[in-house]
Amino acid sequence: MANELRIGDKVITLERGDIRTVEADAIVNAANSSLMGGGGVDGAIPRAGGDTILEECKKYVDEHGRLDPGRAMLTHGGDLPVEFVIHTVGPKWLGGMADEAQTLSSAYLESLRVADHFCLETVAFPSISTGAFGYPKEQAAPVALETIRKFLAEAECVRHVKLVLYDMRTYETYANALDHLVM
Ligand code: ADP
Repeated sequence: MANELRIGDKVITLERGDIRTVEADAIVNAANSSLMGGGGVDGAIPRAGGDTILEECKKYVDEHGRLDPGRAMLTHGGDLPVEFVIHTVGPKWLGGMADEAQTLSSAYLESLRVADHFCLETVAFPSISTGAFGYPKEQAAPVALETIRKFLAEAECVRHVKLVLYDMRTYETYANALDHLVM
């Protein structure tokens, strides 16, 4: 099974691990619309990053309101090894008839647009929506990979997108989807 896909001089890589310890210019948080933290990645990132992250999130919500599914915003990384955290909200899985794929694709795309806007080179994503939000991994993986591939073909600054998968099953699901994308 492949663990990378080259698109010209850019690359998508898959790795198993914890997004909090990854080397990148920014990591992406699978947030909730409230931006107040929660379970899964959304609990782990603010816990490891300290108060700055939640303070910047709170300021954003005070000024702009909640972050809708499919959108993204940026904070500093606080105590994390990365300079920035991009917060995005994936869709909750409602059975597949509520435009979940479009919203999931938008969550990746808007996150990448934010990264490109700030001219970041390396961005690391977890598997958005496939934890508490219940999106089936087998269906989420091709949406994530296809969206990233299309974006990278046109990106100005982003050159390397890492997908950081927490458990073996999720890793294998993405590796399998990458094989199908390559063919
Ligand atoms: P969502 O609410 O978008 O479903 P979750 O945080 O519940 O987000 O889960 C998204 C995915 O991230 C799941 O596959 C989960 O196993 C994984 N995950 C949880 N903690 C981490 C972590 N520290 N690093 C990388 N992935 C993680």
